[in-house]
This record gives sequence, C-alpha cells and structure tokens, in this order.
Amino acid sequence: MLLLPIRIGSSRKCRRCELQINDQKAACPHCHHLSEDEAMQLKALLKQESKVVHSGLRKWFIVIFILSVLLVLVTFI
Ligand SMILES: [Zn+2]
Repeated sequence: MLLLPIRIGSSRKCRRCELQINDQKAACPHCHHLSEDEAMQLKALLKQESKVVHSGLRKWFIVIFILSVLLVLVTFI
C-alpha cells in the first residue's frame, strides 16, 4: 500500500495582498489579475478595513465590560 502525504486545508500568505491562499494554487486568486500597484492598493484597503473592524470590536468589549461591572455591582448592593 502506498501512503501519500495528504495536505488538506494548508494555506500560505500571498506576498502581494497578504491574504491566505491555498498552498496548491500557483497564483493568488485575489490578486493574480491585478498589477503591482493595484495589488498594493488592495493590500492597503484590506489593512484599513481590518483596523476599522478591530476598533469597532474594542469599543464593544469596553461596553460589555462596563455593563458586566454594573451588573455585578447592582447584584451585590
Ligand atoms: Zn494575493
């Protein structure tokens, strides 16, 4: 019986757009059709969106933390 190494779901980061791509694909499906400039713009846009999402999540964590503290205070008073 021949055992072949099976790699399921392995991925790597594209050096142009920094998105995850399947290891078995030679070209990135996100940016292979873009020029270098367009790929850099895509990368900058994705970074910007990521920052917006993270800052939104941070605000929600702070709100949830404050509500939790208030709930604990109200429960023990
Ligand atoms: Zn890419």
